[in-house]
Amino acid sequence: MTDPVLSVQGISKSFGAVCASDGISLDLRQGEIHAIIGPNGAGKSTLIAQICGGLRPDAGRIDFLGRDITGLSVPARARLGLARTFQISALAMEDTALQNAMLGALMPRGGRLGFFRPVLRNAALRDTAMQALERVGLADQAALRTAELSHGQRRQLEIAVALTLRPRAFVMDEPMAGMGSDGSRQMTAFLEGLREEAPILLVEHDMDAVFALADRITVLVYGRCIATGTVAEIRASREVREAYLGEDA
Ligand code: ADP
Ligand code: MG
Repeated sequence: MTDPVLSVQGISKSFGAVCASDGISLDLRQGEIHAIIGPNGAGKSTLIAQICGGLRPDAGRIDFLGRDITGLSVPARARLGLARTFQISALAMEDTALQNAMLGALMPRGGRLGFFRPVLRNAALRDTAMQALERVGLADQAALRTAELSHGQRRQLEIAVALTLRPRAFVMDEPMAGMGSDGSRQMTAFLEGLREEAPILLVEHDMDAVFALADRITVLVYGRCIATGTVAEIRASREVREAYLGEDA
């Protein structure tokens, strides 16, 4: 088996008396969607923040593409190809979809958005951004202001921004949140195809989406990883049912 793309080894993080990550280990392999599930407060967002560089673990280590990234900044990780999506507030609502894709592609280089405005005339960058919009099905919306896009389209735009960076792994925190059932189904179909670009670490509450997409699932409860396995293994686990899935599973 090839080395994992992303490897989290025994990371811990406490906020005062709350142990939000309690020695968590998991990995993300080439071509897979690895879902992280767990009740509210389980530590999913804290885990994602440590993987992406916004929070520094108290202990443990994170490797990406065979390299220790535990001490790297968010932009340094993004430059290596670790793409975090679904921070919709990062989109500029008055700019067009195309402008967002172009400017977003430059963000990991640091600095403020306005600083890069002259590059909006850069043809190569425009081509890259346009290809990314086509890839996510937003080519026809390229000239629309982001404010005019639907919620689901903004999420696709976030992915287009990530695609311009040639990601080697995606990290997504609740892509289905705030979507209706039609939107969730569309996003599920979209993510199914996206895994060909790069593997996806997916935090998601929508169990239909998780069970449809995940090659493996890790279950977090109170900062601890209580199980990792295939959909069938997780559905069959008594401990997971009792801790989280309840009768639905
Ligand atoms: P989830 O995303 O699974 O809902 P979080 O990672 O947001 O869980 O939170 C895990 C635990 O850590 C919760 O008890 C939460 O209150 C706590 N927590 C998260 N971030 C902070 C913070 N910045 N300061 C203090 N406590 C925090
Ligand atoms: Mg969360």
